[in-house]
Amino acid sequence: MMRVIVVGASGRMGRMLVRAVAEAEGAELVGATERPGSGWIGQDAGTLAGVAEIGVAVSDDPGACAEADVIIDFTAPQATLAHASLAAEKGMRMVIGTTGFEPGMLAELRKTLAGVPVVMAANYSVGVNLSLELIRRAAAVLGPDYDAEIFEAHHRHKVDAPSGTALAMGRALADGRGVDLDDVAVYARQGITGPRQPGSIGFVVVRGGNIVGEHKAMFIADEERVEINHVASDRMVFARGAVRAATWLKDQSPGWYDMRDVLNLRD
Ligand code: NAD
Repeated sequence: MMRVIVVGASGRMGRMLVRAVAEAEGAELVGATERPGSGWIGQDAGTLAGVAEIGVAVSDDPGACAEADVIIDFTAPQATLAHASLAAEKGMRMVIGTTGFEPGMLAELRKTLAGVPVVMAANYSVGVNLSLELIRRAAAVLGPDYDAEIFEAHHRHKVDAPSGTALAMGRALADGRGVDLDDVAVYARQGITGPRQPGSIGFVVVRGGNIVGEHKAMFIADEERVEINHVASDRMVFARGAVRAATWLKDQSPGWYDMRDVLNLRD
């Protein structure tokens, strides 16, 4: 049984995570936190998530939670860094869903968690992770003569762009072509941009309403177009994947893993 702390428990994902842990076999919620000042401090985590009472009160101090095996963290980069220090200090594993890390912060995170078994994924859905593999294969087969564009759409509250999943798709696509995404990515077009650079990978971002997450990789030739499209319609899909990653971590040695490892998708 994996004893789990969900940090950021009243967030859009936090509530789903509490529910997913409560429903999972092999996982048990022993702690839930929110930022100091949240109206949920002291209330039952189950009530917060809209399920039966769990007997775990939401705390503003992750260090004061009951002893746990793993922290599941879908919060914000700065908060995740603080949680990582705690995980390293207390010997807890970590499942990280937070996106929007600047490169320097990501390096710091990896350094802090050097001795910890960690799963970090931009998207915990099984369908998205399968799509990443399909994109990698399509890019290798179709080659750079097919113009590649990545489209993503999310709800109006999302603060980072392009989404972590769109970037993961870009990296999978670049990987399939044997190039580095940083060398070929085009994140914005405005004004007189000139014609499309051969081999570039363009990104298109839409924000609005309550869209849970849509991602599409397009390979566009003069005569045909291949599209690999994923639509998430309920956040529970990410929460279930994250809990699956948490239970998978039980038997892993320290290291940096992603959903390809959890789902055994590596060749
Ligand atoms: P949200 O704003 O609804 O939730 C974040 C929660 O974290 C908030 O309740 C906030 O109060 C809390 N928080 C912030 N700092 C904290 C701290 N120091 N201690 C405790 N709690 C703290 O956001 P969301 O839509 O749930 O998304 C959260 C993150 O997860 C974002 O980075 C988002 O991009 C990412 N996300 C990842 C996936 C995935 O599959 N990897 C899926 C959905 C969202």
